[in-house]
Amino acid sequence: MQIGSVLSVAVPTVVLVSTTFDRPDLVSAPVLVDGGTDGSDEPDLSAEMDELDAALDDFATVLDRLHALDLTAYTDVRVEDGLRRYVAQCRRAPTVRHAFVAEVIDRCLPVARRCSSTAAYLRNLIRISAGEGRAWERDAHDLAPRRALSTGEVLPARRPAVAAAVREGAIGTSHARAITDTLRQVPAAVSTDEKVRAEVKLVRYARRHDPNTLARRCAEVLDELDPDGSLGSTPEHRDRVRTFRISAQNRHGMFPVKGLLSPEVGAMLTAALSPLAAPQPGPDGSADPRRVEQRDHDALGELARRALAAGDLPVRHGFAATVLYTATIDQIEARTGEVSTAHGGRVPVRDLLRLAAETRVIPLVFDSDGQVLHFGEEQRLATGSQRHALYLLDGGCTFEGCAIPATWCQSAHGAEGFQTTRRTTIDDLALLCGFHHRLVDTEGWFIERINGRVWITPPKWIDPDQVPRTNERFRPLQE
Ligand SMILES: [Zn+2]
Repeated sequence: MQIGSVLSVAVPTVVLVSTTFDRPDLVSAPVLVDGGTDGSDEPDLSAEMDELDAALDDFATVLDRLHALDLTAYTDVRVEDGLRRYVAQCRRAPTVRHAFVAEVIDRCLPVARRCSSTAAYLRNLIRISAGEGRAWERDAHDLAPRRALSTGEVLPARRPAVAAAVREGAIGTSHARAITDTLRQVPAAVSTDEKVRAEVKLVRYARRHDPNTLARRCAEVLDELDPDGSLGSTPEHRDRVRTFRISAQNRHGMFPVKGLLSPEVGAMLTAALSPLAAPQPGPDGSADPRRVEQRDHDALGELARRALAAGDLPVRHGFAATVLYTATIDQIEARTGEVSTAHGGRVPVRDLLRLAAETRVIPLVFDSDGQVLHFGEEQRLATGSQRHALYLLDGGCTFEGCAIPATWCQSAHGAEGFQTTRRTTIDDLALLCGFHHRLVDTEGWFIERINGRVWITPPKWIDPDQVPRTNERFRPLQE
């Protein structure tokens, strides 16, 4: 049996992310509208369905014919012409996709399937990335024909010129998105007529240029619509474009940051950073060697450290801002490598040891299957200790593919639940983020812990074979 050691270090430290729990994408509760949407069993006798099947069969047949072509048999001119004609047809194809996605949204299928968003629904249904799913949703919103709610009458797409050019095969998805993204950035104060003229102008340009050239023209058109920037300075526009995001660590352990701060937040942040970012001369009077960006970076860290040390940040799941680290005895002894934190980050072992020297360390021993063998302190399994143990066991949400780190998660009861045993043990619990906790509860995903690892079985509409899934993001399976 391999013995690992787990250090739990209660220290206020570098977790800026701990203050950004309000993630609307995780808290928007899905609403159940209709239990009868699992329509796979119901016979669908509509003639439209026959037409759908026939059209898709024809589409497959055409692709089979194209796949079978021997292009070496054709002249240069025929190959070039063929490529041009093929691409034009491919560029028409997304019009079908827009209609499908718009139909899915009109029918509220993502809600009926209890998915947090259309993107999440598309990811489950057809395995596209969440980012691509959001792009598909925007495409459908802008380019699919709309239906009047009252009369059912079919109305033109929101961007009719772009939609027509796509349907015709004259412009591709990259062209279309460059234009629709640009129009989305047009300040609300610009008149509808001006917006329509800009759309038509950009579509005409897109018919003759590649997407990169078009993107430059898009930026120019934005400037032309709001030459002195005054229209984009309205409170409504600022409200719409404000954003701040710390992304997942890259492979060098660094956190990318992206954002656009409102005048108020920008003013507060610069006011708070400026005294902390002042140049610090060396002891011998030499100039501060740090660049101004590096001083600002260090000042931001100092600001967060002071906020955490002040101890007045909101408490999360019964814990004050705390960072948990896991490490093996080998790592501690070698004093090299990186350990993972329950916030989903990685920290060099030597930094951990420096922090540990200042604070309380709780050793925790677990076996190679991840079963907790021993808590460092003699105590009953209190809720806090249990959650600490779950943080360390699961590392984060146990739902397959979920990237939510442990400190943002809740502990969910598994199948053996404590209703039957009246006692909660680690084996009955799993870490799940808020969204997946609700999803598992409401939709009947089956959750169990086997040899320390959590397995979750999907409902039939997602996986007809119902193969149990596990999240390898935080705990990769051993080969
Ligand atoms: Zn999750």
